[in-house]
Amino acid sequence: MDNKKANINAESDDKGKRPMRRAPKRKVCAFCVEKIEAIDYKDLTKMRRYVTEKGKIVPRRTSGVCAHHQRELATAIKRARIMGLLPFKGE
Ligand SMILES: [Zn+2]
Repeated sequence: MDNKKANINAESDDKGKRPMRRAPKRKVCAFCVEKIEAIDYKDLTKMRRYVTEKGKIVPRRTSGVCAHHQRELATAIKRARIMGLLPFKGE
């Protein structure tokens, strides 16, 4: 409980000293914009943007993809990996 109080105090102390955190630009799902229903696992050009150079799937909070399309995307990427189109890890 004391710890919580200390945190609140620390936050109020920081006001003014630290520049205000800018609200992040609202990202809108690229797949919703293009009205894409199903993501094709063969469409590497689209999926490349959502895979890091290490082969990881980019999280939703970074890419701004909506929950529905992130699920579709993850499935497509996993299918592409099995087909050997995308790496499981590394490059
Ligand atoms: Zn979407």
